Amino acid sequence: MTASPNSRRTAFCTIDLDKPGKQIGWIMLPHSTHDDAWGVTRIPIAVISNGKGPTVILEGGNHGDEYEGPIAICDLARELDPGTVQGRLILMPANNVHAVVAGTRTSPVDGLNLNRTFPGDALGSITQQISDFVANEIFPCGNAFLDLHSGGSSLDLLPSTVIEPTADSELHRRNLGAAQAFGAPFTVVIGNYGDMRTATATACAAGLTTVGTELGGGGSVRRENLELCRSGIRRVLIHFGLLADDENGLQPPPGSASSLLEIPAPRAFVYATTDGIFEPYHPNGQIVHAGDAAGRIHPIWEPAQEPVTLYYRSDGILYGRRHPGRVRPGNCCLVVASPYTGPF
Ligand SMILES: [Zn+2]
Repeated sequence: MTASPNSRRTAFCTIDLDKPGKQIGWIMLPHSTHDDAWGVTRIPIAVISNGKGPTVILEGGNHGDEYEGPIAICDLARELDPGTVQGRLILMPANNVHAVVAGTRTSPVDGLNLNRTFPGDALGSITQQISDFVANEIFPCGNAFLDLHSGGSSLDLLPSTVIEPTADSELHRRNLGAAQAFGAPFTVVIGNYGDMRTATATACAAGLTTVGTELGGGGSVRRENLELCRSGIRRVLIHFGLLADDENGLQPPPGSASSLLEIPAPRAFVYATTDGIFEPYHPNGQIVHAGDAAGRIHPIWEPAQEPVTLYYRSDGILYGRRHPGRVRPGNCCLVVASPYTGPF
């Protein structure tokens, strides 16, 4: 790795990303704490490189309570023979490592959501330094970025690939091609309310072909979603020419082009309006319509009080539900995805 153009950055990497073969090591972020004055926070990283070809970056553990991606990335780091690779894989299974160790969405060190800190700050808190390193040292090495998420502790989402909204038709075509190669039942354009401080928005802005996933959630691991994650990664790597299809026998299943949806925020979201326990009326995957009753909030500590009914605000398919039953005003209870309407 070349010296950082940002002389303020103190992080360093224990492996040479330009060396052929397989290496497993750490990004080391100096982290001076009460009980460890000259210690570091270690972000695991592996590189598997052979010959000429694209560089594909895989991220897991951006949120620490989403597990399918990190498991599949660690499998690749251990099992993939560099001789079967044409190009370079950069594998990062646990990027917000303090959150991963704690099993939480946000970092227990500084309370930040890594995926709202991009492109980071070399002089910021530990989470801001992680996004700075990923955005400014790792992304410039890559041609493509695969960001593996699930719904986490608070959401249960339909298994899907996710792409960023973009006005760049050529980037959209590349992102969509890679997303559909993954082979999930749905591909969803998600803009996070227009927030650009995410890993995928930053990778797109850097010109990388960029695909995310949402693979279930509830802070758990579902076998079928883990299988989809493992096989989907391989299909995307075959799509990029990094793995040979005949060797892995995992060509995209015929007719696997998934339905293209979008989340028309904010009307896609059904928010809690009061304190209580949310009773959803429908399972994920249900076709729903604006104005239909979506569920009720029960104030179970006030038995004389009537439950409060919530209503859908858009037409589409129920894409996600809040996982915990307990809700407070403003909590996202339901998410509706609708057919993608453009700009392409
Ligand atoms: Zn996530």
